[in-house]
Amino acid sequence: MVMLEVVPVPVLTDNYVWLIHDSKSGETATVDPSVAEPVLAAVEAKGWQLSEVLNTHWHPDHTGGNAAIQSATGSPIIAPAEAERVSKVDRVVAEGDRVRVCGAEALVWDIPAHTAGHIAYYFENEGMIFVGDTMFAMGCGRLFEGTAQQMYANLQRIAALPGDIRIYCGHEYTLANARFAADAEPNNAAILARLKKVEALRASGDVTLPTTVAEERETNPFVRATNWEEFARLRSEKDSFRS
Ligand SMILES: [Zn+2]
Repeated sequence: MVMLEVVPVPVLTDNYVWLIHDSKSGETATVDPSVAEPVLAAVEAKGWQLSEVLNTHWHPDHTGGNAAIQSATGSPIIAPAEAERVSKVDRVVAEGDRVRVCGAEALVWDIPAHTAGHIAYYFENEGMIFVGDTMFAMGCGRLFEGTAQQMYANLQRIAALPGDIRIYCGHEYTLANARFAADAEPNNAAILARLKKVEALRASGDVTLPTTVAEERETNPFVRATNWEEFARLRSEKDSFRS
């Protein structure tokens, strides 16, 4: 196991681009660079050098910086096949593939639904998973290219990991998700306590991520749904929920 430093680069309205750094090898990977400039600036401010780009799905707010980062740094782009729609990909990965970055190894999971080819990078030994727009703190991604059954299965797969696994998501949606969660489960004390905590964090402009598998099991109504039909009902309620 290597000690990796993981830092968010907040970009656009509410995206997080993640930097993963290994001080021993000096390698730095970035996950889902929406844009290039702020990511390159953050890397430079740290005195690091980018070595890889990882994408979880093709959406432009996750891949928009690929080309400029690749030409500025020569970093190879590792991505699901669907990302080739918008960007050159150096290595296409899918379920069961292993990716070595920053002296560590990530296992690739296929988790389709938000997009048809969405993947996650699970760093088992480092206790962390990058889930893109599939799971959010207290919420989950919209179903643009898949079904409620698929998304429910993805969430259950992530929730079955050990409780202390850290989950890195693609957006700061936690406050809106927490308000929906409190509405969906008004008697869940863990949700109400987390809503208060998240309100305080956001009031001071702090990042609410990463979350953990244990926290999501307690406070994420989409994870807590007992079957995909219940999940589907929550997902459509959330689509029209105004907090
Ligand atoms: Zn997306």
